[in-house]
Formats: sequence, C-alpha cells, structure tokens
Amino acid sequence: MRKVIDGKRYDTQTARELGVLGDTTLFIKVTGQFFLYQNNPHKWPTITPISWEQARAWAMGVLDHDDLVDQFGNPCRVCNKVKASTDNNYGKLCQTCEDMGYWVDKDGNTHAPDDK
Ligand SMILES: [Zn+2]
Repeated sequence: MRKVIDGKRYDTQTARELGVLGDTTLFIKVTGQFFLYQNNPHKWPTITPISWEQARAWAMGVLDHDDLVDQFGNPCRVCNKVKASTDNNYGKLCQTCEDMGYWVDKDGNTHAPDDK
C-alpha cells in the first residue's frame, strides 16, 4: 500500500517491516520515519506516521529485548524518551538530561543534578 501524508510518501513495499501485532504492522522508511500499517478486513487499510517514541512504545510489546535495542537503541535512563545509545546495554543519558546535570556513577546508578 502506498499513501502520501503531508507531502511524504509511505510505501509498505519499500519500507522495512519491524514487527506485527494482530492486524497492525510497524514499518520504518529508509529516512528513519516510522509508520503503522493497519489492515483490518472490516475497514479500509490505514497508514499512520508515528514518532520514534511511539514506535518504541509499540515495539516494546512486540519485539524481544535484543531486537528492541538493535532497532531503537537504549532510551535515556532519566526521561526514557530520547534515543541515547546503541553501544551500551545499560543505556545512557540523552543530551538534554546531561545538560540539566543528571549523571550516572560507575555502578550505573542515575543521580539527580543536586546529588553530589
Ligand atoms: Zn533524557
């Protein structure tokens, strides 16, 4: 299925399939944009562009841990939102939280800015 939404083209033939749950499939375009393709036999198929955060939340219930890390990296340990790192199994902090002063000690514990 192909569809243009807000001037961007979404094509289930050229995007990469990441996971399936019921009648919904998560795809990623080569540009990195995620979208959900819903193919319910009782409705028109739909394509819904979603953010990295939404895609990750959806995929958490579908992909196993390794695939999740491969695809999405580890989220920030403080805000749990922004992609922080793919090279560290324990996750890191996003730039925003680091800039706010959050920090991680050598044992991997997260500390608030006023923790010294
Ligand atoms: Zn953060």
